[in-house]
Amino acid sequence: MAKKDTSDFREHLSNLNERTGKRTWIYPKIISGRFYRYRSWFSAFLLALLFVGPWLRWKGHPLFLFDVLERKFIIAGLPFFPQDFYLLALGLLSFIVFIMLFTSIFGRLWCGWVCPQTVFMEMVFRRIENWIEGNAAAQKKLDEGPLNAEKVWKKTAKHTLFWLISFLIANTFLAYIIGSDALMKIITEPVSQHRAGFVSILIFTSVFYLVFAKLRELVCIIICPYGRLQGVLLDQNSVVVAYDHQRGEPRGRLVKGQTESGKGDCVDCGLCVEVCPTGIDIRNGTQLECVACTACMDACDSVMEKIHKPLGLIRYASEQQIVSKKTFSYTNRMKAYTVFFVLLFGVFSTLLALRKDLQASVLRTPGTTFVREQDGKVANFFLLKLTNKTFHDMNVRVALEGIPASIQMLDDHIRIKGGEHQSMPVIVHLKQADIKENTTPFQVVVYADNKEMNRVKLFFNGPVFD
Ligand code: SF4
Ligand code: SF4
Repeated sequence: MAKKDTSDFREHLSNLNERTGKRTWIYPKIISGRFYRYRSWFSAFLLALLFVGPWLRWKGHPLFLFDVLERKFIIAGLPFFPQDFYLLALGLLSFIVFIMLFTSIFGRLWCGWVCPQTVFMEMVFRRIENWIEGNAAAQKKLDEGPLNAEKVWKKTAKHTLFWLISFLIANTFLAYIIGSDALMKIITEPVSQHRAGFVSILIFTSVFYLVFAKLRELVCIIICPYGRLQGVLLDQNSVVVAYDHQRGEPRGRLVKGQTESGKGDCVDCGLCVEVCPTGIDIRNGTQLECVACTACMDACDSVMEKIHKPLGLIRYASEQQIVSKKTFSYTNRMKAYTVFFVLLFGVFSTLLALRKDLQASVLRTPGTTFVREQDGKVANFFLLKLTNKTFHDMNVRVALEGIPASIQMLDDHIRIKGGEHQSMPVIVHLKQADIKENTTPFQVVVYADNKEMNRVKLFFNGPVFD
């Protein structure tokens, strides 16, 4: 039989019908194997973590909160406020560089094992679909068949379950944004009191339903920016899900009675293509569409077992390892990413460690220099801004150093609540006799619960008289 020419595979999308220009629905077989088993356990752990996450508390506060509306974040119990934006940005940058490093070494391991899209799609929605509609062949037959009672009840049952799970995901997603307490209010109180929250849940539910019931592999192939970056992140040394073409080629079907001499180990059964959720043939080489789900590894291992050949014709390997049989090499590119990541993460960790529980800033009131007062003193005007970056209330005291001046505030005893931000005017009075230069340096020292928190350097403006 003539070998099918697949050399132009990069010119085509696996899920596009070139004749009609329409999308071809992919019906991947579910294959059980050791990787599927490991992934099932790991996915169960991740799903438990995801759903339990918003309900976890640390010292009475959520362990994780990503309140983008109020610009308040809690990560691993540590609160972050808008003033910490630089820290979040630096943390995010470190994370992106880490992903670049990780991807250049391990390819799309994240996509196959951790990405919520793959975990939900392959471990939850695909299983439900198989449970209700049957295996891949039965699903195809049902879709192509007439609209009868069986089709109606199966489709209704499937989509109802899909919608309910999407609703559950939407609630969890919202709980990470507004907190589980606020979510419980939306759930337990009348809809009329939480219209915005209710509408948000419906919008999130619809988006998740659309993603898992309709878009599916399009998210990984077209929408996900990380997926599209693979072309620049991967190289010959990245460990990806790879077909060992040295061992597998020339491929050919096993024919009873014929000798296998001159043939590779691939029997061209096509099972690795049938199980692929993005519809590609991994034997063509690394492709952007591959989400490293390991299904083809399990599929091919099951074939190798049957024909008594070593497992791993499709396995985790780099192109370099397959061609030269060398072990993993830590390339200069990987080293450069590592250095960059260590530097960024080092700066991030240092800044995080130096972060004060109370942030204070003192700025001169715009448009002011000094005012001569009736009692002969000279006054300068400032604006004190305080942010309590903890969950507990603080008693704040402000003092001056380096100048024999007095400080005047609306209230000498400032109490600032956890997570609260306060701004207040501050007037500094200095006797004319104590002004020795036009700008006198001094410091504002801010104490929280009698512990020094901040020291701000300023200048006092005033006229000098001989
Ligand atoms: S090629 Fe293999 S690992 Fe990649 S998406 Fe398809 S089945 Fe999954
Ligand atoms: S499953 Fe293995 S043997 Fe079958 S076609 Fe794919 S690579 Fe070849």
